[in-house]
Amino acid sequence: MAKLTVRELDVRGKRVFVRVDYNVPMEEKDGQMVINDVTRIKETLPTLELLIEKGARIILASHLGRPKGKREVSLSLRPVAATLADMIHRPIAFVDDCIGEKVEKTADALKPGDILLLENVRYYREEEANEPTFAGKLADGVSVYVNDAFGAAHRAHASTEGVARVIAQRGGQCGAGLLMERELKFLGDELENPARPFIVILGGAKVSEKINVIDRLLEKADTILIGGAMTYTFRLALGKKVGKSLVEPDRVGVARAALDKAKGRKVQFLLAVDNIVATPVDTGKLNQKGKPVVEWRNPRVNDSLDIPDAEEGMDIGPKTIRTFTEIIPRAKTILWNGPMGVFEDKRFAEGTFAVARAVADTTQKGAKSIVGGGDSVKALNLTGLSDKVTFVSTGGGASLEFLEGKVLPGVAVLSDK
Ligand code: AMP
Repeated sequence: MAKLTVRELDVRGKRVFVRVDYNVPMEEKDGQMVINDVTRIKETLPTLELLIEKGARIILASHLGRPKGKREVSLSLRPVAATLADMIHRPIAFVDDCIGEKVEKTADALKPGDILLLENVRYYREEEANEPTFAGKLADGVSVYVNDAFGAAHRAHASTEGVARVIAQRGGQCGAGLLMERELKFLGDELENPARPFIVILGGAKVSEKINVIDRLLEKADTILIGGAMTYTFRLALGKKVGKSLVEPDRVGVARAALDKAKGRKVQFLLAVDNIVATPVDTGKLNQKGKPVVEWRNPRVNDSLDIPDAEEGMDIGPKTIRTFTEIIPRAKTILWNGPMGVFEDKRFAEGTFAVARAVADTTQKGAKSIVGGGDSVKALNLTGLSDKVTFVSTGGGASLEFLEGKVLPGVAVLSDK
């Protein structure tokens, strides 16, 4: 059912609790934590600007990293408050806690249009436990709830679910922020009845993480193109040799079932037919985490479905690139999740970049394209094509669960229209 959005909420003069996703990448420089990428902050500005215009008294809450219930100084949201103030051109109040007297005092002093950012909600272990008393404290004095943190909506935590429940029980309204609204529109409504042909491109590391999505999409897609390390588990299911490629032998059964389902439903299901392979060599060194450092030597094209014992599949090959980039332009709707190879190493990036270019070109010719999953988004950014696709999803795990058809607790709890 459609959910209320911040557009419809009556917030004038009211205290509004806004769950945002300010889980931004940070790095220590000269003893200070510095934000490396402000995308997540920037993406919340439309919702905040609308709330300011509507005269809400805004309280922002977010998690940052995994402090596991402890006050971890390096995971404080204080640097985010300063950055947000610069980006939105107004002062942002910050309190070094997310509940209690200090919060209460500062929240009381907020005038319509003012913003307060609370400290990392995960400094309390009650956040992830969705502890009702803690949720009640977060909801103290709040009359409206807005969730703009799609990336955290698959978790039933206090700030993503518990607070909304408390407010709804009091008869208050809970709605989606503008970013959340876009995610629900593109990953939900747009894919419900997609314009055809609907072509799905899936890659990345593991079949296990995406098999439920594959299963669901087999009921909707006209074509599914498979690249990335997932290919090798499917190849194993077809009795092929995979050498040292990343595989999940325990998922061969589900891979076979997906292949059968594709045949039964007449979905064109294409696996990579050739690969760039390389020989992994143990350097004898250990990385910072104590794991062996491996180097990949002698990259070459392997024009066969079998990969020799000493080699590893690292990217899709030129024949596959040709086939995929011939098929993609036929699409009216494209969903892309996961890179075609180990694109972080430029020797193995061409497959992913070629797909990115084809998706962008097809979008420019009128198709709708939806790109999800952290790594395909990273690859898209590397090619500078992010603004040439229709929609880039911000939620990794949340996007996958939503595409699987699961109910996200942070969405379910919002008020129906
Ligand atoms: P995911 O989060 O499942 O989308 O996986 C993304 C990761 O998959 C990236 O870090 C890629 O380096 C990795 N990946 C893609 N293709 C391969 C491959 N053939 N072998 C190993 N890792 C791969």
